[in-house]
Amino acid sequence: MRARKKKNCDARVAACSDLLITEPSELAQYKDKLPAEIEIGCGKGGFICEMAKQNPDKTFFAVELITDVLVTALERVKNENIENVKFLNLNALRLPEFFAEGDVSVIYLNFSDPWPKSRHEKRRLTYREFLRTYKKFLKKDGYVIMKTDNDALFDFTLEELPEADFSVEAISRDLHNSEYCAGNIMTEYEKNFSEKGVPIKYVKAKNN
Ligand code: SAH
Repeated sequence: MRARKKKNCDARVAACSDLLITEPSELAQYKDKLPAEIEIGCGKGGFICEMAKQNPDKTFFAVELITDVLVTALERVKNENIENVKFLNLNALRLPEFFAEGDVSVIYLNFSDPWPKSRHEKRRLTYREFLRTYKKFLKKDGYVIMKTDNDALFDFTLEELPEADFSVEAISRDLHNSEYCAGNIMTEYEKNFSEKGVPIKYVKAKNN
């Protein structure tokens, strides 16, 4: 997601610093709240905030590389006094520094960057090496749940999942008109794409 440089971004992030995890040692205080659910690439945070409000007994962590985007999510959680979401402002590849084996029960990947050029496939968040990285902290029998507008990224993901020993349990190429739509929480990207008539692709895969 490209974002215009936000004014006072550093000061705004600093005002929400209690919501940010910056050191692996900070995870210790959440030990009795694990396993948690995480979203990788949370953008402006609409999905994770709604998930957290609907599931007050669960703990959520949202990961986002771009601080200018993340600041919107941080302020949302702060303004709405949502207590069960914390954020990590880093590349998902660094997550094994923070989370240990079995700490996470579900990973949500919503509208991840498609990286359409094949020479960039290793950057896709469902590239097999990313999936193998997730297995370092995702519970056995835990899930990766992905939504995307992008057919090529979806097809790529379906090839990568078995390579990393995930098995597909649910799939739809038109989520909003499928049996899996009940309770679906729309992300910012999802609203944009579905307003344009693009069908949303969905897959839920189990970590074997
Ligand atoms: N999930 C949101 C945003 C989708 S855009 C929505 O559906 O509305 C994808 C987001 O993933 C971008 O904000 C991008 O900065 C983030 N992202 C991409 N690669 C990442 C990585 N390796 N680690 C963390 N975040 C990443």
